[in-house]
Amino acid sequence: MTTIFSNEQLEDVVKFHGHSCPGLAIGIRASELCLRKLGHNADSPLVAVCETDMCGVDAIQFLTGCSAGKGNLIFRDHGKMAFTFFRRRDEKGFRALLRPGFMAEERKEMSRLMALISENKASEEEKETCSVMRSKCESGYLEADLSELFIIGEPQTSIPRPAKILQSMTCEHCGEIHMESRSRRFAGETLCIPCFTKVEQKI
Ligand SMILES: [Zn+2]
Ligand SMILES: [Zn+2]
Repeated sequence: MTTIFSNEQLEDVVKFHGHSCPGLAIGIRASELCLRKLGHNADSPLVAVCETDMCGVDAIQFLTGCSAGKGNLIFRDHGKMAFTFFRRRDEKGFRALLRPGFMAEERKEMSRLMALISENKASEEEKETCSVMRSKCESGYLEADLSELFIIGEPQTSIPRPAKILQSMTCEHCGEIHMESRSRRFAGETLCIPCFTKVEQKI
């Protein structure tokens, strides 16, 4: 185990996520990279941009202090194992992409077996092999050097602007209050997105 986190922190992040898995391990290591390069959000505000909505995101929220609710964890779900972090103070940032060649064979086999399992087509032996593969990948991720695990480069986007306080609007159909930036106008009325979608589909 080469990670900077204590066993207790690792146990807590597993508790937060609900199970330990290879995806969570990737998030743990991406968080470690963030802490090493930019620090923790509590020391100086950070922004994380996650290009996946998978398990690893929970580790990022738990270990870096960036969270969806605070608006400093942003999803740009491209289905990639890539995480970009910025520090607002000096706008320093980096993007970490899981290296495609890292344990490539094992990952390929793991995906194949997981697909079989999800389709209920896996034999007992394949299920067993899959769980062995999963823990092998998980420990591989946890034990690798960060530069071996990730391609670390410049951010590919500019730093997202801080969340703005916007006006509240009332939807003229359902009466629910919603944020101005999510408001729609239709036939002279102010509508929320679901009501707008409904009327628009009728045309
Ligand atoms: Zn998971
Ligand atoms: Zn509405």
